[in-house]
Amino acid sequence: MEYETVIGLEVHLQLKTKSKAFCACATEFGQEPNSQTCPVCLGFPGSLPVLNQAAFFSALKVGLALNCQVQEYTKFDRKHYYYPDLPKNYQISQYDLPLARDGFLDISVENRQKRIGILRVHLEEDAGKLVHEERLSYVDFNRTGVPLLEIVSQPEISSPQEAYEYLTTLKSAIEYLEVSGCDMEKGSLRCDANISLRKKGAQKLGRKTELKNMNSFKAIKDALSFEVIRQTEILAAGEPIVQETRLWDAKVAKTISMRSKEEAKDYRYFPEPDLPPFIINRDKIEEIRRTIPELPREKMLRWMREYELSEYDAKILVSNKGDADYAESAIKTYPQKDKKPIANWLIGPFASIATDRNCSIAALKLSQEALIELIAFVENQQISQLAAKSVLAEMIETGRSAAQIIQEKNLVQISDTAELEKIAEEVIKVNPKSVQDYKSGKANALMFLVGQAMKKTQGKANPKIVQELFKEAIEKLKF
Ligand SMILES: [Zn+2]
Repeated sequence: MEYETVIGLEVHLQLKTKSKAFCACATEFGQEPNSQTCPVCLGFPGSLPVLNQAAFFSALKVGLALNCQVQEYTKFDRKHYYYPDLPKNYQISQYDLPLARDGFLDISVENRQKRIGILRVHLEEDAGKLVHEERLSYVDFNRTGVPLLEIVSQPEISSPQEAYEYLTTLKSAIEYLEVSGCDMEKGSLRCDANISLRKKGAQKLGRKTELKNMNSFKAIKDALSFEVIRQTEILAAGEPIVQETRLWDAKVAKTISMRSKEEAKDYRYFPEPDLPPFIINRDKIEEIRRTIPELPREKMLRWMREYELSEYDAKILVSNKGDADYAESAIKTYPQKDKKPIANWLIGPFASIATDRNCSIAALKLSQEALIELIAFVENQQISQLAAKSVLAEMIETGRSAAQIIQEKNLVQISDTAELEKIAEEVIKVNPKSVQDYKSGKANALMFLVGQAMKKTQGKANPKIVQELFKEAIEKLKF
């Protein structure tokens, strides 16, 4: 029997606001435990919540960016459960009237576009954090009441790889909106996954499990892949799937049963009596819509059209907003029609320096013109690719131009054939074994000889010309 996989994802996103969702406490991460609390977020009797307008507008912005219908009338509800990190014994959330619903997110899967429906986007408050030590547990309420957005996809994701694509696309879009830190390590982005299998072609959804405790997109993909295999084996043996919550244990790479899943009725939802319903007027919605920038996926598709970049290159270049602005300006300034070389430089050596310094490429503060000047030296075969990389690092370090550094360090490549022929002959003379190897069909031996010539010239020989010269010279040799 063949099965198909059905996945739905619930993403929780902390909104980057100065204060909490319903009180004036700060939201800064990593502060002294319980230093950012007040009677409202500690749930003292008689304290009253007040909605944070900035959080509400950020939530609307996300809803609009995800192509949702923003509801003109929305309200908050109490979701009841007991847990030590939830001092009120209920969480302010949204139940039947979420602020946005029925949207979608387009993703790329194996070179085609797939549209994943967004069921709903709603605003709620985060719970506190339990810190477990050897024999004691502590509770830190700093996180209690931090605005949290829940983004629920339709169960339209068909594989762990699609789930991964959905999450990276979503994260990149949210980063462009500048409403969340989107940092899984700091917990500002978290994700739960629902997964079930059904017989191929069946309409009815199979019984699902909910996966929790995954702290990277890769872990989510791994947990889902494990679950596909586990559920397939159970179904193939003719046994039923237990509807439950399972925790991903990265150490043993398995999901482990945690508890049976609560139903909505267990939470005893009812309207939050301390907050009025909210009516959002159309003008405000349009005003927020206008603040949404071109999102990374649209930008990627446009670059593929306008600059004829591959999807692979465009996707990397647009993934960070600041870098995308830098990259687009560089691509526009680059004089050749074929933009592949500049894209390669941006993705390759330039990005790798940024990664080493743990910053964005825009933060390297090198002008697009300076970068293009350096690339021209390589294109005109005046310096080698290898030398150019070290020049680039020095340009960033010192702020000097490519021309200055190349001249000072005497890096101009030797492309003079007569001079290179002499060098090739010398190398051939002292490496008869490699010459023999190459003759007998070992291609690597040629690279060794080229390497020797590079060494002899302190890396300044033009490797392409040298390689050709070696081929010709060896061809002429008589054995
Ligand atoms: Zn507070």
